[in-house]
Amino acid sequence: MITTARQRQMTLGSIRITNLPDGYALFNIPFLFPETTPADWEPYQHLLNQDKQIVASIGAYVIQTSGHTIVADAGFGPGQYVDEGNMELHGGELLASLQKAGLTPADIDLVFITHLHPDHVNGIIQQANGEQGVLYPNARFLLRRSEWQRMATQAERYGVEEAVRLLEPRVELIEENTLLVPEITVLATPGHVSGHASLLIEAGEQRVILLGDVFHNNVQVEHPEWRNVFDRDHEQAVKTRLHILEELAKPATIGIASHFATDVFGRVTVAQGKYQWHTLAE
Ligand SMILES: [Zn+2]
Repeated sequence: MITTARQRQMTLGSIRITNLPDGYALFNIPFLFPETTPADWEPYQHLLNQDKQIVASIGAYVIQTSGHTIVADAGFGPGQYVDEGNMELHGGELLASLQKAGLTPADIDLVFITHLHPDHVNGIIQQANGEQGVLYPNARFLLRRSEWQRMATQAERYGVEEAVRLLEPRVELIEENTLLVPEITVLATPGHVSGHASLLIEAGEQRVILLGDVFHNNVQVEHPEWRNVFDRDHEQAVKTRLHILEELAKPATIGIASHFATDVFGRVTVAQGKYQWHTLAE
């Protein structure tokens, strides 16, 4: 049976990376991948639940380096969103996941958000005594400059208004291809949204690419051309997926994909131009 990713940890040199499950999402195929047919999905029945829905993990990550304790993305946060017949999102487990990793929000000194969509940023909101605040009291909040600039219009802020309001006095902007911390580079991976970022984490020859929403489902590794409804610029999203697949297929490279079912950590192989995703062995 298909499940969402459970919490696990990996090390990369002296860096420890842990995924922090926050919840799950279910998508009806014609909604998420409107141009695919039932026949397209025949080989991928193992990625669907008993109702033939796509199962997606929702969560965040904590990256512990020698100098920093970083949260990458923030999850959806407590609550749910149901769009009957299309999709549903459920969150709220993140704090328990953080605790399971032996940490509290006060331990986090840096938060980086790959892109400002509800399932990646609304988890920074803390409700206490009827007031809204930011969950991580000691953290700096960093975002790609172009992603923050995207928030200039009300239409773009839809669904993340509160998170953006809370971030406004605290956010620090960073350019792509610069270092978040000495071991982590911010990559521009546009398409899903124009300001989308991924993180390249390096230790010696070993690399991890924290992908954000470059891919929405495991199936897009084999079909990077499949349009998903949330990619704003389809052509650019395909270009980015193809470029990132090339990178993922290089030696000693691990990918972390936000919404993949079963496991968010994996490796990519390529044979005769066909890419394949393999869950990272324990
Ligand atoms: Zn997402």
